[in-house]
This record gives sequence, structure tokens and C-alpha cells, in this order.
Amino acid sequence: MACNSGTCQSGSCRDEFSAGEDGRKQRPVPEIGNGSDHASPRRGESIAEGVCIKCKVNGTIATTHPAITGSGGDAGRFCADCFRSNLFGKFRFAVTSNAMISPTDNVLVAFSGGSSSRVALQFVHEMQQKAQKNFDATKSTERVLPVFRVGVAYIDETTVYPVPSNDFDRAVNEMELIVSSLAPPEKQFFVVPTESIYSTDFTAERDRLTKLVDAVSDVTGKQDLMKHLRMSCLQKAAYENGYTKIVMGTCTSQIACHVLEATVKGQGFSLAADIQYVDARWKIPVVLPLRDCPSEELNMLCSLDSLKTVESLEQPRSGINGLISSFVKLLQVENPSRESTIVRTAGKLTPFSFNTAPEVGDVTTHLASKRRQKKYNLKPDESLPTESFCLICNSPLKKTNDFHHGETHAEIYSGTCSSCQFQILPKDNSSMEYFCSLLPQSMTTLPKYTNDNQKLLREQIQDCLLSESDDGTS
Ligand SMILES: [Zn+2]
Ligand SMILES: [Zn+2]
Repeated sequence: MACNSGTCQSGSCRDEFSAGEDGRKQRPVPEIGNGSDHASPRRGESIAEGVCIKCKVNGTIATTHPAITGSGGDAGRFCADCFRSNLFGKFRFAVTSNAMISPTDNVLVAFSGGSSSRVALQFVHEMQQKAQKNFDATKSTERVLPVFRVGVAYIDETTVYPVPSNDFDRAVNEMELIVSSLAPPEKQFFVVPTESIYSTDFTAERDRLTKLVDAVSDVTGKQDLMKHLRMSCLQKAAYENGYTKIVMGTCTSQIACHVLEATVKGQGFSLAADIQYVDARWKIPVVLPLRDCPSEELNMLCSLDSLKTVESLEQPRSGINGLISSFVKLLQVENPSRESTIVRTAGKLTPFSFNTAPEVGDVTTHLASKRRQKKYNLKPDESLPTESFCLICNSPLKKTNDFHHGETHAEIYSGTCSSCQFQILPKDNSSMEYFCSLLPQSMTTLPKYTNDNQKLLREQIQDCLLSESDDGTS
């Protein structure tokens, strides 16, 4: 039986990735929801109306669940089982082919309560359960791989976007219930307030955070700053609680919006960094296993499987981001494959060297997963300077910063990307000084994560490296 675990190293997974006639590895999962035709019945083969085009046995979702519609016609083509296994297959493929999760990992799922992160949580959970089953089954054998652990984090932004406390408590209770109702292994659940980026003295820091966000006059800039703060919070929570990966529920639709937003904001240089499966520029690497899943499919799975979602406390998108969301929605109505077209087009951009799974942690485990790692992505460009990142949004910068601490506001200004300079930073010097005094320390200190990771790996494999006198040339 083929093992379904993305973390299984036994080799029984290999048959999932059968080689094509030309020897190249092929995607195991048929593309659905984008109008591609390789899931359609073969010529001469007739399929009765309302029967799944994949298994050719079960009734389609449209016939078995008439209340559920959408997802670019998938409801009319697939039965619930085939739809579900297609979607999970895309997730699992992204995880295994990019070495996203290794058995020793401690994975933090970023959870907003919406359908994308709900499905991410569900799939990570299912993968963990399968790994647990394998672990239990192979207990007696010599080499047993551990089962990765899972935690869930919700970022509480009520200091900046206040909601009635009743609504907030209800939402958090619902999220707690969702997490605790998942079968064991037990998952920790964290509610992380945005002000935690400063310190643990939340009362004073709430005021500082409000002032920081209020100091940004531009609507889009304000929203973007909140997004960067959200990631900083997740990073801090993950780091402080011993997590080694952050799983985001970012789906095709959200990436499509980001591509167009970045285009409008002039973030062309750094765009490629944001839209890959793996983003290891952070202290804790971030992975996007739902990159190939459009939101329509995720919504449909939530309805089909009654996966409970929580009414969002998030602010509606505004400014440039709001305009682009509605624009992409319109495009999608006109042609259901538009979102994946946008992502595939931007996917031609050359990724950065930090867009591959970082080589830290248990070196042997990593090498094992590296062997199974399939290279579908474009090769990262090692020549790009990656040591320099925007202090606010952490975008790679074209220029190199040669200072380590943004101590003066002039240093902070020169350590940010042009988009943050235009959209977030105040225009005049006196407001700039005030704004910089409100920034959390994590943003005014240049991160050197990539170098740290490489250094750590080097230390771990030091004994196996040839020294200059050992290499036979002297
Ligand atoms: Zn079927
Ligand atoms: Zn920036």
C-alpha cells in the first residue's frame, strides 16, 4: 500500500511520483478547476450525465450535494471523493516536492479562521495523523522517524482594528474548539496580540502600536504595515515557542492579488521572493502548501466536509489592495482560470536562493528529504545579493546595507524599499523621527537569518568537511 505521509522516508511514497515516458517526473494530480482537459473523458468514451469524470462511478457533487455550487464547474465534473483527493493531492505534492515538512519539524499553522487557513490546518492535521499511523505501525523496527508536531496561532489585531469584546471572545472560543476537536496528537493554540512584537508589557505597548499605525496616513500603507507586523508576530511566536516552520494558508487567489498589487506598488525586484512554496528569508522558514489551490476549491471543501470556519474579524481590504481584490474577482468570473494564469505567469520570475527549504536541523533527515525533493521550480539565482532586506517589509533589496542597526531615521530610510518609503514612511523629517521611535526593535535591526542558517549548517557538518590541508592538494 502506498504511504500517504509526506514525511514518510520509507520509499513507499515513491510510486506516487511515477516517471513519464520522457523520464521526467510528472505531477500525480490532475489540475482541476482551471479548465484543463486531462481529466475529461477520453474520446469515444461516454460518461452518463451527473457521473464523476474521474472515477466514473459516483455521482458528481452537483447531484449528491445540490446546495453546493462554484469552483469553476468542479461540482459538475467530480464526485466528492475525487474532488477531495485531488485537492489533498495538490497540497501533499507541494509539501513533499519542496521538502516543506520533515519528521523532526515543529510546525506552526497561521490560522485566521477563514477557509484557506482552515483547509491548511485540516490537511496538515491529516498528514500528521498518517505519519502517526506509520510511526505506530513501524514501532518495532530499528529506525523510527519521529512524527512532526503541530501548533496553531491566531494573530489578534483588535488593538488596531477594535471589535466588540463579545464578538472577539466568541471567535476565539470557536477557534479553540476547532483546534481541540482535531484528533490527537494534541495541538497547542496561541492567540498572539500584534503588540507582542514589542515586549511583554502589553498595556504600554498597545498605545505605542496604535500610534505607529496611526502615523501612516496612506490607507494602503497602513494595511501593508499591518501585514508586515502580522508576519513579525508570527515569527516571534514561532521562535519563542520552539517552532521550526510556519505554514500559511495562502492560496492561488491571494497570490494572484499579491502579484498585481506588487506590480502596482513597484515591487518588481522582490516579487519573486513572495510567491514561492518556500520562503526561508525569515528566522523561521515560511511555507505555502496551498499555493496551487484556488479559494473557490477551498471554500467548496469546507462546505462539503462541514469544516467549520470562523467569521472573520479582519478589516475589509482597502486602497490599492481593495481595488485589486475586486478586479481579480471580476476577472475570475469572466474566466475561472485567471487566478492560476496570473500566478503561473509571475512564477516565471527567477526565485531567490532563500526560496528553497533551508538546510538546518537534523542534517541526515534533511538530506533524506532533499533526495526526494523534486525540482519543478526554476533554479534560484545564487548570484542575487540576498543579504540585504527592507527593514519594514523584509523584501530583498537591490542595494546592500552596510550597517547593522537602523539607529538614525536616515539609516532606517535608506534601509527600506522604495515601496515602503512611498507608502508607509512619513514624508517630512520630523514625523520620520517620531515614526521610527515607534517601530519595534525587530524592524530596526537588520536580520542576518540566511547567513545564520548557513553558519549553523556549517557548524553541524564541520567534522565531515575537508580542511585545506586534508584535501590532498598540499
Ligand atoms: Zn469520482
Ligand atoms: Zn519594504
